[in-house]
Amino acid sequence: MKHTNLNDERRWQAVLDRDPQADGQFVFAVLTTGIFCRPSCRARHALRQNVRFYADAAAARDAGFRPCKRCQPENADPQQQRIAKVARACRLLEQDTTIRLEALAREVGVSPYHFHRLFKSVTGMTPKAWQQAWRTKRLRAALEKGEPVTQAVLAAGFPASSSYYREADNTLGMTARQYRRGGSDVTVRYALAACDLGRCLVAESARGICAVLLGDDDASLIIELQTIFPQAQREEGDAGFYARLETVLATINGQNTALQLPLDIRGTAFQQQVWHALQEIPAGETRSYQQVAQSIGNPRAVRAVASACAANTLAIVIPCHRVVRQSGALSGYRWGEGRKAQLLRRETQQEEA
Ligand SMILES: [Zn+2]
Repeated sequence: MKHTNLNDERRWQAVLDRDPQADGQFVFAVLTTGIFCRPSCRARHALRQNVRFYADAAAARDAGFRPCKRCQPENADPQQQRIAKVARACRLLEQDTTIRLEALAREVGVSPYHFHRLFKSVTGMTPKAWQQAWRTKRLRAALEKGEPVTQAVLAAGFPASSSYYREADNTLGMTARQYRRGGSDVTVRYALAACDLGRCLVAESARGICAVLLGDDDASLIIELQTIFPQAQREEGDAGFYARLETVLATINGQNTALQLPLDIRGTAFQQQVWHALQEIPAGETRSYQQVAQSIGNPRAVRAVASACAANTLAIVIPCHRVVRQSGALSGYRWGEGRKAQLLRRETQQEEA
C-alpha cells in the first residue's frame, strides 16, 4: 500500500490495520487523551470521531499533543531501530571477536533469545557464524603477514584450546599451517563436462564443491580455476567424483534436483552474507542489487553486493544470475550475459509450467 497523499479514510484504515508500513508517513492524535501515536501503535483504538491526523510528530506537538509512551512516535521507526541494533552488534563483534553473545545482547539492549532471532532475520547469519567469519578473516590476514601460527590463532580471537584450532581448520578450508604456506598442500580435484549452458567445470576440495564454472572451452575454464586457487594442487577427479558431478550437472540443467553436496563456500563475512541471501531468492524470480542490499540490512552497500555477486565461484548453485538491475536490465554475469538470460528464461518457464 502506498501512503503518499493519503486521505484521512485511508489513514484511519492503516491505523485500524496497525500497518507498520504506514509508520513514518503520518501520526494520529486522540482529542480525548491528548496523546499522539504512530500508525502501528499496539494501544487500544479511540473512536474515529476523536482522532486527528498530522504529517509528523512535530506537527502533532505544535497542535498541543504529547507523544505516546508505548509507541514513542518521535523515535526512529521500530524496523530501523532493530536494524540499527544489529548493525551495532556487528561492529562490536568485529572489534571484539571473543565477546560472549549474552554480553553482546545485553550491550545492544535485547534479550539473548530475541537477539539470536533478530540478528539472523537481519543478516541471514547467526551471530556465532558472523563472529566465526570475522575470526577467520583476521586469522587469514595474520597468517598472510607471516605471523607464527599459534600467535595468529590467539590474536584472531580463537580461545587457547585445541578445539578452536579445529574450528580454525574448518573455516579456512585447510589447516592454519597449510594456509600460511599459500594453500600449497591443498588438493582441488576437478572434472569437465558438457551441460545445457556450454562447457562446465566442477571442482571440489576436501570440504566439498568449491567451484562451478561455465564457459565455451575447457582450456579457459582451467585457467579460471587456476586464478581462483593459485597455490593449490589441481588434479583430475576420479570415478567417484564423476558420479557426484552428475548431481551438479542435473542442477545446472534445471532438473530441479536440490544440490545436497557439501559446499565449500570461501569468502569474507560480507560475501558469505550476500551469497546466503542469493540462495533465498526462489527460482523464477529476480531481485535488484538494491533489494539484496536491503535484505542483508545494509541498504547502502549496493556496489559491494554487485562485487560479491561477481566474486561468486559457484555458478547456479549460488544463484547470482537472479540479481538484475533495478530497471530490469540483466547487468553483467561472470559467465556471460547470454547464459544469464538463458538461465532466467528457463527458470521462469519452469515456474509457470
Ligand atoms: Zn502509541
